[in-house]
Amino acid sequence: MTLLKLSNLSVHYGAIQALRNISMEINQGEVVSLIGANGSGKTTTLRTISGLVRKSSGDILYENKDISRKPASDIVKMGLSHVPEGRRIFPRMSVYENLEVGAITRKDKEGVQKDFKRSFELFPRLLERKHQMAGTLSGGEQQMLAIARGLLSRPRLLLLDEPSMGLAPLIVEEIFTILRDINETGTTILLVEQNANLALNFSDRAYILKNGIIDLQGNSKDLLHNEEVRKAYLGA
Ligand code: ATP
Repeated sequence: MTLLKLSNLSVHYGAIQALRNISMEINQGEVVSLIGANGSGKTTTLRTISGLVRKSSGDILYENKDISRKPASDIVKMGLSHVPEGRRIFPRMSVYENLEVGAITRKDKEGVQKDFKRSFELFPRLLERKHQMAGTLSGGEQQMLAIARGLLSRPRLLLLDEPSMGLAPLIVEEIFTILRDINETGTTILLVEQNANLALNFSDRAYILKNGIIDLQGNSKDLLHNEEVRKAYLGA
């Protein structure tokens, strides 16, 4: 089943066109990655899906419903959660309080309690630091907190913007192992990454953006071996 479908989506910032007629599909259960150079439009794609930036033209269907004119808060309630670039946690609030913000749209108290428990099972480091101010966490722990907070709205589709950014390889590995678990327990993932090698090894399928256009797409395994991709994105 198609969970998200972008058709001929264009986005402008004033006179600058950031996305040019892009089309993408994400099926339920998949991990799809979106890669490309700096400024190619990856973040804009995620922000447009989650209602933070408005399209100029095209369609965004989520579970067959047009979400392109809905406010971001409604889109979260529909089960679509965005973990932004640079994590955007609240540094002066505790780990626990940051997580509470993630559950703010929910009224099912028992379900929320269960999901807090699940977050701490997924991220034991956050349990140990429950009362610590979030701004004093390491970069990797802040990324874990941002992901855990994103999961507390119970998304069916999780949008992740550069979860590996600025982190050491070992912590990246730890985070991606947890992301695998999150996907295997039923959450579909759209992953934006500068690290093409990491993204292609992690995802089922991928789209490559270049100057706001989808330049290439396909199975991640095939793209990993594609000569053009290897030269332009994998440093081969
Ligand atoms: P990066 O990997 O550097 O985050 P990206 O692929 O995510 O890059 P975007 O951030 O989506 O790219 O940017 C796409 C284009 O839109 C760039 O040319 C950028 O300068 C422009 N852009 C992004 N945000 C704005 C904004 N708020 N106002 C004006 N132009 C913007």
